[in-house]
Amino acid sequence: MLVGITGTPGTGKTSVTLQLEKKPGYQIIHLNELIREEKLYCEVDAERDCVVADMDLVEQRVMEKVDSSSPVIILDSHLSHHIADIVIVLRASPDKLRERLKIRNYSENKIQENLEAEALDVILFESVEWCDKVFEIDTTNQTIEETITDIEEIISALLKGQDEELMVKYKPGSVDWSEEFFANMHL
Ligand code: ADP
Ligand code: MN
Repeated sequence: MLVGITGTPGTGKTSVTLQLEKKPGYQIIHLNELIREEKLYCEVDAERDCVVADMDLVEQRVMEKVDSSSPVIILDSHLSHHIADIVIVLRASPDKLRERLKIRNYSENKIQENLEAEALDVILFESVEWCDKVFEIDTTNQTIEETITDIEEIISALLKGQDEELMVKYKPGSVDWSEEFFANMHL
């Protein structure tokens, strides 16, 4: 079973998947690292300090890397909903996201761009549009361990075919930061 963990940068995808990687039964593919290492991009956007991934090539490499003996393969990336049909979208309030992104060496522009994307639910919308099953976890007031517990609950229900019951608890669109975010914006 292939599961994508997606979400705006800073929502915690890599932190949680690095922990899950230590447990048996999971194969984790850190997509952003793979894209960088194998140069799976078609363009470098110097102005926005990022690369434009060649998603056909990325998907092809993911399929080659999948270890079919592993019951669960997890993709870690804000691009994973382009590939997986089952996705977990991690969310964090823009205030919390700002705190988390500040620790990185992100420019103010790049921070703002990400906060806006989170407030507008960009990745959630794409996921709902493209994927069969979408679960949402609000990490704003959670520890990394609590987020991992939620992810494991979702995955174990999926493996048992009982995920319908969790659709309420992890219903996409449960959070809405837009009011708080745009009220604080000085237009
Ligand atoms: P991403 O891979 O989504 O860009 P990272 O995992 O690199 O995000 O960064 C998330 C940051 O948020 C880390 O500094 C992590 O310690 C922190 N964090 C705080 N709470 C959580 C949580 N509940 N889940 C995941 N990360 C969290
Ligand atoms: Mn990451």
